[in-house]
Amino acid sequence: MNLSKIIAPQLLKMTWNQSAHLARSVRANYRRVNHNNRRDFNKQHTQILEMIGKGIPAADIYNKIGLLYESRHPGLRCSMLELHGDTLIHGGAPSMPEEYCRAVNGLKIGPDIGSCGTSTYTGKRVIVENIETDPRWKNIKQFALPHGMRSCWSEPIKSSSGEVLGAFGMYYDYPATPNKDESKSLESAAMLASIVMERDKNQKRIKELAYTDELTGFSSRAYFYLKLETLVKEAQQNKQRFGVIFIDLDNFKNINDSFGHDVGDRYLQDIAKRLTPIINDSYLISRLGGDEFCIIVKESATTQNSEQIALRCLNEISQTTEISGREFVQSCSIGIAHYPEHGRDVTTVLKSADTALYRAKDAGKNQYVTYDKAFTIAAEYQFNVEQLLRCAIDNKDITIVYQPQVELNTQRVITVEALCRWYHPELGQVSPDEFIKIAERTGMIKPLTEYVLATACKQAVMWKNAGYSRIRLAVNISAAHFLDPDFIPLIERVLYETKMDPNDLELEVTETVIQTKPTHQLVFKRLKALGIKLAIDDFGTGYSSFASLKHLDVDVLKIDKYFIDDILVDRKSQYLVESMIGMAHNLGYYVVAEGVENQEQAQLLKPMSCDVAQGYLFSKPTHPENIETLLRQAH
Ligand code: C2E
Ligand code: CA
Ligand code: CA
Repeated sequence: MNLSKIIAPQLLKMTWNQSAHLARSVRANYRRVNHNNRRDFNKQHTQILEMIGKGIPAADIYNKIGLLYESRHPGLRCSMLELHGDTLIHGGAPSMPEEYCRAVNGLKIGPDIGSCGTSTYTGKRVIVENIETDPRWKNIKQFALPHGMRSCWSEPIKSSSGEVLGAFGMYYDYPATPNKDESKSLESAAMLASIVMERDKNQKRIKELAYTDELTGFSSRAYFYLKLETLVKEAQQNKQRFGVIFIDLDNFKNINDSFGHDVGDRYLQDIAKRLTPIINDSYLISRLGGDEFCIIVKESATTQNSEQIALRCLNEISQTTEISGREFVQSCSIGIAHYPEHGRDVTTVLKSADTALYRAKDAGKNQYVTYDKAFTIAAEYQFNVEQLLRCAIDNKDITIVYQPQVELNTQRVITVEALCRWYHPELGQVSPDEFIKIAERTGMIKPLTEYVLATACKQAVMWKNAGYSRIRLAVNISAAHFLDPDFIPLIERVLYETKMDPNDLELEVTETVIQTKPTHQLVFKRLKALGIKLAIDDFGTGYSSFASLKHLDVDVLKIDKYFIDDILVDRKSQYLVESMIGMAHNLGYYVVAEGVENQEQAQLLKPMSCDVAQGYLFSKPTHPENIETLLRQAH
């Protein structure tokens, strides 16, 4: 039996006092009358718990809770308010007029803000018998009275840890205080609502944790991808443009490695703080991980806001920062791509921004680059070449040619330099300048060097066994090896396996390698200890410090072709070559002139006391059989 349905029409015909009296007597008899409904109440209570467990939205559950207690106490109206900071937000009130709900929504809590505003403020139950006369309702009773509410009891809804999450309000249309049963209902209804509120609060917290990057407060990677999906859909529908800005700090690893992750983290926080004002009106900023940030910027049909923001980010990030009393300067590289020009879906537009970022890094860092389709074509070609080179090295499709170095006084071949060649049926002849760089970048230089070294050493041993004993073998070694702890073992292994005499082996390194880095020097010492000779290749084109020459036990200086090329026509080049020769001799090195192409050059170098010359004049790099012919002629 639904008592409220019976009472309501009766109430309409009575005076306020009469109706209040009747309602009170109904309340008093409630226990007896409603006894049969108790089982139904328990069933519904269980249903609510199930709804909470199933993740049904809070608003639906609030309504169900309200209706449950309203059916239990005829004439009662319930409301649930959530507390957000110091503000009450409408949760559910199935039988309250919309106008009242709207009025209460957004109410600031305080020591005398009605029943719910006060209970959430004090954390204690508030019983207001008569709204009309209670001082706590003085300022807001105008919201309630027109709708017939006269009494209001409020129970603060608390989390398991005691935090106030909201308020459960019970209203009657006449002045009243709760009886024992109503008091219990108030408590249990608030308890039920607290389970819903705590569930949602926890969910919100979990979402927040998953969606924000704790270090910087920017969006997390997960949230970023989610938002970007939505943005692409919106942009598709509304034909909008946006820009994706990828930022990567240059060499940030050094800060972590040198000063620890604590300092690194503080640095990232500092950068985030400096970026915040720049990205104020942009759509989204995220730390994608490590030292990578991504900004989404809305663009109109004609704007290039992304470029302007990128420029400001570059400037801001490169400002000097102080952390723990130490000054830091950091640069960054930025890649930009635009939707829809550079990608019509999330994956493609991000890939384009990433490609542009790599361009910026490749071009020397500390700059921004906007994506261009040509980058992808080049990157795909590069990738293709990488794969083919890997196969070529694995299948030993790399061949080795040798170029003689001739002593100018005697015309004897005293050294041969091993140079590798790669011919691919599709790519044709690939220049070593090109594929050595790829091998260095991809780590393939290690097996390549080992292969070249082993093949050349085997060849040199064969020549020696054939009687050309005074010949020395020169092999080029990439700078990358000097940071590889496996480099010396690699050399030792090859020497052992090929039975090559280390005294007949010369390793050519470029000037960058001979810098005064302690690790490099150690490698040089160990090579020398093995008896191996060292040559500085391409001398004059790099930046070698004379200080490093002082510490190094070098045997040969190879003057770069660049100086030899115009030695006949440019007196400056002549002086430079002469000075280099003089300096090298004083330091005890012998000198090789590279790229000697004609007799005139050789004739000019001889009186300058240049010891050795290498170049097309004597022979192009060639196959071993041709070298043998040359060696035979010399014997
Ligand atoms: P590099 O070590 O300076 O080698 C000399 C380069 O000059 C060779 O080019 C050679 O063919 C070229 N050359 C020699 N004489 C003349 C001449 O008279 N005129 C002209 N125009 N060129 C001359 P290549 O073989 O194309 O090698 C280019 C570079 O590739 C080498 O320069 C070296 O840095 C690198 N490289 C070649 N093979 C290897 C290798 O096995 N390992 C490493 N790490 N690098 C290698
Ligand atoms: Ca060389
Ligand atoms: Ca050279």
